[in-house]
Amino acid sequence: MRLRLKPWSGCKPREGSRFIRSNQNFMKELTCRDIGVDCDVKFRADTDEEIMTQAAEHAASEHNLPTIPPHIEQKCRAAIKDVA
Ligand SMILES: [Zn+2]
Repeated sequence: MRLRLKPWSGCKPREGSRFIRSNQNFMKELTCRDIGVDCDVKFRADTDEEIMTQAAEHAASEHNLPTIPPHIEQKCRAAIKDVA
């Protein structure tokens, strides 16, 4: 089933909309320390998903955590911050 699109005139982009911004203008960042791990490794990426991918790889190789449990993942996502 296809979604019915609103008429074009009904969805003018607002001036100064943040959605037009390139996502290269800011990044997301997470460090192990942010989630209570005594480790200074920092992850930077454009999206939460990419951060989680990096964090999962790092956790597997450095913290003996082959899969990130859901409660840790939630903690990670909550700790991810935007940086300029
Ligand atoms: Zn670490």
